[in-house]
Amino acid sequence: MRDETIDTHCPYCALQCGMKLRAAADPADGTERTVEVVERTEFPVNRGALCGKGRTAPAVLSSRVRLTGPLVRSHATGRLEEATWEEALRTIADGLGRTRAEHGADAVGVFGGGGLTNEKAYTLGKFARVALGTSQIDYNGRFCMSSAAAAHTRAFGLDRGLPFPLEDIPRTGCVILVGSNLAETMPPALRYLTELKENGGTLIVVDPRRTRTAEQADLHLAPRPGTDLALALGLLHIVVAEGRTDDAFVEDRTTGWPEARAAAMAHWPELVERITGVGVPQLREAVRMFCDAPTGMVLTARGPEQQSKGTDTVGAWINLCLATGRAGRPLSGYGCLTGQGNGQGGREHGQKADQLPGYRKLDDPAARAHVAEVWGVPPESLPGPGRSAYELLDALGRDVRSLLLMGSNPVVSAPRAAHIEERLRSLDFLAVADVVLSETAALADVVLPVTQWAEETGTMTNLEGRVLLRRRALTPPEGVRSDLEVLHALAGLLGHEKGFPTDAEEVFEELRRASAGGPADYSGITYRRIAEEDGVFWPCPGTADDGPVHPGTPRLFLDRFATPDGLARFVPVTHRPAAEEPDAEYPVLLTTGRVVAQYQSGAQTRRVGELTAAAPGPFVELHPQMAERLGVAEGDPVAVVSRRGRAEGPARVTNGIRPDTVFMPFHWPGAGRVNSVTNPALDPTSRMPEFKVCAVRVEAAAPG
Ligand code: SF4
Repeated sequence: MRDETIDTHCPYCALQCGMKLRAAADPADGTERTVEVVERTEFPVNRGALCGKGRTAPAVLSSRVRLTGPLVRSHATGRLEEATWEEALRTIADGLGRTRAEHGADAVGVFGGGGLTNEKAYTLGKFARVALGTSQIDYNGRFCMSSAAAAHTRAFGLDRGLPFPLEDIPRTGCVILVGSNLAETMPPALRYLTELKENGGTLIVVDPRRTRTAEQADLHLAPRPGTDLALALGLLHIVVAEGRTDDAFVEDRTTGWPEARAAAMAHWPELVERITGVGVPQLREAVRMFCDAPTGMVLTARGPEQQSKGTDTVGAWINLCLATGRAGRPLSGYGCLTGQGNGQGGREHGQKADQLPGYRKLDDPAARAHVAEVWGVPPESLPGPGRSAYELLDALGRDVRSLLLMGSNPVVSAPRAAHIEERLRSLDFLAVADVVLSETAALADVVLPVTQWAEETGTMTNLEGRVLLRRRALTPPEGVRSDLEVLHALAGLLGHEKGFPTDAEEVFEELRRASAGGPADYSGITYRRIAEEDGVFWPCPGTADDGPVHPGTPRLFLDRFATPDGLARFVPVTHRPAAEEPDAEYPVLLTTGRVVAQYQSGAQTRRVGELTAAAPGPFVELHPQMAERLGVAEGDPVAVVSRRGRAEGPARVTNGIRPDTVFMPFHWPGAGRVNSVTNPALDPTSRMPEFKVCAVRVEAAAPG
């Protein structure tokens, strides 16, 4: 065992906990195949704490089920069979090239992931637009925080998940946490809320379930799924009625208040009680707690965001912050708790259908000219905006006939998943790069085995906007290549030998130039600085060689918002029902979410024994009243059925959920795949599907 430890970060969620890795040699052949996780207490975000997912992450590196050689589907047998890298890459270049020749560049799609490093996300966007010439690229982060990103940009002129560092949370006066089960999704972050309460602050949790996070709250509001917008409007109504607005702040730092105020005043508390199921006294208590505190924050996550009105829902919470002067000030503000590891960076560097690196807009001529110059191509050669993630997946086999997919498993994670699975099967050609044979990879014509987090270097941007360096800690197994090597090789086969480096730092240097002057400006950030400073917050513009180094920007908006006039925008929003409301045939509300031992589609964590033992499969959480009505007891098989499909799991009976609602986690495929049931109705602005609410029928199922 080497003594040397390497500082790096967890491969999973957006907290990007710091850890040290120590490589251990395999006694059989002396290669470094296993690593030991060592605490990295000096990294400020998690101070050494890790959840079970992070602690066991090395298990996937040495897993027997990881892919260690390319697979190509045999015409003769129809099965995936071992192939050389040359055969596999040539088959992909031929498959994508054939589609492009026969149907045009936009018939080729690219689908990325929120777990890809900044360098990979950047290169994938460039590969799509330069090497393939297609507009059809988006990524699974669209399913994560896109509504918050849209609302953030609309109100503040800039989207960074948290406009302040996590360390500010314990020092504020009151936090309203909306639709986040932090205790299960990112357990080390729970300490920020614990410390908030130890410091005398108060915590309000909004969630239809009494989660482990809600149990920490001073006040738990449990609205009907899909009514968070009305809840926020009701609180704002009370703020106005009780004279608790910060008029000076509204006057000096915002615009649009009269319209937003009028919209809120149409949502009087009794009406909001009827819509949400949250009593007027609780609404008043929430306002008292929030406004009595000298400072306050509203933090949202997937609950309010994954709705077909997610942008307006987040906008309503932002309006509450603005009206009470809790934005653009120290220890106050609105923030989004981004979920995926690089959900933040993944959306900043060109993986999104409508954006170029630096968080530039694809339809902005100046942005196109800047990025085209960095890429060495004419601006007019860059395609325009493409389809959003669900719309892209829905178009497969029709307008989009071939797909290259990296770092995503939509067969499990997309809404209306059975339909998306069918669309994937209907493709002329599908290539997937992954570390294991995920449910999506199993459908591919070619599967490429790629390196994992600890086997490669690259940067990630966590939920605070802190750019971090993940360092290579061990040698990858023979037979796997990095995503950057894959894109380099494919670009070469498609006639673009230059412009797709395989070295991550070289890519980052180009990314710095491409982002320079954009909203997400990384031009002052270098690998060396990240290592020395434990991360650098963007925006961080570069400076002249002899000028002072920009320190990065941990706190945004303190002097002005990022709008042209520096003022934050109130946006008037009104309540509207979910896209699908309960009726006689489907009388129950379904909401979905996560459990602590699994991550996203579970492609990696379902292959870790300790995690699978802790969370072996899906379940249906339901209230005792519903259980009694159905005649089911704890553990009995239950089916949840919507207009789109069916999912089953054992009953988990609890008083901690509303009697009109059932909950299922989404990490599993097969009969327990809850995304077979979910509704792909899209938010008109963010194109976020409505994962968090749909109408279902719940019934006792036959024992499996
Ligand atoms: Fe990894 Fe997130 Fe767990 Fe931290 S909280 S160890 S980043 S999965």
